Amino acid sequence: IGALYVVATPIGNLDDLSPRARQVLADVAVIAAEDTRHSARLLRHLGLERPMLSLHEHNESGRVAQLKARLAAGEDVALISDAGTPLICDPGFLLVRELRESGYRVVPIPGACAFVAALSAAGLPTDRFLFQGFLPAKGSGRRGRLAALVEREETLVFYESPHRIRDTLADIAGSFGARRVVLARELTKTFETFLDGDAASLLARMEEDPDQARGEFVVMVAGASPKAEDDEALVEAETLLKALLAE
Ligand code: SAM
Repeated sequence: IGALYVVATPIGNLDDLSPRARQVLADVAVIAAEDTRHSARLLRHLGLERPMLSLHEHNESGRVAQLKARLAAGEDVALISDAGTPLICDPGFLLVRELRESGYRVVPIPGACAFVAALSAAGLPTDRFLFQGFLPAKGSGRRGRLAALVEREETLVFYESPHRIRDTLADIAGSFGARRVVLARELTKTFETFLDGDAASLLARMEEDPDQARGEFVVMVAGASPKAEDDEALVEAETLLKALLAE
């Protein structure tokens, strides 16, 4: 019985693909790719020529049975997406769930993921964060989602496209005011940039320099400060501890 390898691919810099990932792509019988034309470029860069088939949001449910049959026949299959880690705002969930539920081996081959790279270099707390993927495209939906997150104390992490980055920043300014925002743009690519400030100041930067609104974005918003009750509880605990230590 074959295995499904869920292989992370680069998010810009093609050298970020690991030797292990390359080996898996070289060895499998077939590569299921979100966009086969896009992935053909990666395979060419790796000097590989492998059979591919498309697996995207419009055909995933149909592909599941087909790929299951190939695994049952003993073939290994790799799943890749256009960039980064499959299933992270990318197709593959239906396939992985079905294979796991049917007892097949599903093996992650880790590598690039845009929000992990962004968090690792943003300088915002990473002990707890809330990854929210893409915000709703419509203004009202987006504002509703943001409003529901204002009290969260974890660092908030979103994906955003260049078409909506200004609208999203304007809505973040509306809900979060002067809260610190870090924008990670074009990670691992030539124009990789980190911008830091409140949402209104980041918008002003984009007005000054429209290039700052181009490319791919991870938007990170500092979590809410812990509530006053928590502070009081902390002070009480400290007082008690001091008293106990004095004894
Ligand atoms: N599977 C991918 C991952 O592991 O990060 C995410 C795919 S999702 C369809 C694409 C979004 O990821 C982009 O709109 C952007 O928000 C983010 N993204 C992908 N590559 C990026 C990069 N190089 N720099 C910043 N953000 C990136």
